[in-house]
Amino acid sequence: MTSYTNWVANIEAQSGQFAEYWRCGMEVFGLDQPEAALDWCKSHDLTAQTQHTSMNESLWLPDIAQVRNPRLVAALRKAVIKLGGTIHTHCEAKAATSQSGRMQAIVTEQSVFKADRFVLSTGAWAGLTIPGLTGTPNIRPIRGQMLLFKLEPGTLNKILFRNGLYLIPRRDGHILVGSTLEDAGFDKSTDIATRQRLHAKAEELLPILGSIQPVQHWAGLRPGSPDNIPIIDRHPDFDNVFVNTGHYRYGVTLAPASAELLVDLMEGKPSALDPEPYRWQAALGRDWGSTL
Ligand SMILES: Cc1cc2nc3c(=O)[nH]c(=O)nc-3n(C[C@H](O)[C@H](O)[C@H](O)COP(=O)(O)OP(=O)(O)OC[C@H]3O[C@@H](n4cnc5c(N)ncnc54)[C@H](O)[C@@H]3O)c2cc1C
Repeated sequence: MTSYTNWVANIEAQSGQFAEYWRCGMEVFGLDQPEAALDWCKSHDLTAQTQHTSMNESLWLPDIAQVRNPRLVAALRKAVIKLGGTIHTHCEAKAATSQSGRMQAIVTEQSVFKADRFVLSTGAWAGLTIPGLTGTPNIRPIRGQMLLFKLEPGTLNKILFRNGLYLIPRRDGHILVGSTLEDAGFDKSTDIATRQRLHAKAEELLPILGSIQPVQHWAGLRPGSPDNIPIIDRHPDFDNVFVNTGHYRYGVTLAPASAELLVDLMEGKPSALDPEPYRWQAALGRDWGSTL
């Protein structure tokens, strides 16, 4: 299976564009059971050590890496085009047409796209039925609000994490602060109370943030799935339609492994990953329960 490092390096080489993959490490604060966390890391081959100061105990994970997702997507887009792919943006799939148990085309306002095989990867919208194509089970949009600060490069050189809040430094001095988990439908709006709460929590981890205002505050919709388990499988309605969705909080992290499994399924090849947990049928058996 391709490593994330190699996957990014390959996209960078194809596109000639830097995606800012950075093995900056992560420091985790506020752990109830640091020894159990250490054991978990050990059993998953992840280097970890506890650190103690007079104020704090934390867990240091030197191998944790990050990638600058907007740059990764820009590089990926360029690589796809260089390799001969065509990307149509702002082109909503409105309906699917089929004949003899096979999907024939996706209908949009601009055009009708015919193909031998289709992949449905419509993120938070994957649960919605497109006329002619059943929606993926148990996918729902989960909103996340984030803040962005701008400091001098080098002010923070590692990811900080405490009780679900993270600070991610970028090479140019930007610091991302996130995020919330909100079951708010397809509403991507932000609110001042959340902005203040995220800001105050971020300041506790990095006091200098208390003296500046965020340069950006936005929200995105995650393709939520129970237990954070994506669905990567053949669509039950049609043999030539595949689904790759429901990656919830980890779609960036899981991208190369998901794509590899998807391609193996499409080509009918055995995969390095066990496909069973990601089957449509398995997703039908999971429900939201108390996941949120
Ligand atoms: C605040 C926040 C923080 C996150 N942090 C992380 C993180 O640290 N690590 C991580 O790995 N992941 C993270 N994620 C999750 C990650 O962004 C998602 O899992 C990932 O983007 C899912 O990718 P996707 O391609 O399945 O869906 P999306 O990125 O949502 O893309 C789906 C696309 O399909 C399009 N679409 C929908 N319906 C139609 C239609 N009918 N016709 C045509 N197009 C359609 C949409 O417009 C959209 O462009 C975060 C998400 C949020 C919101």
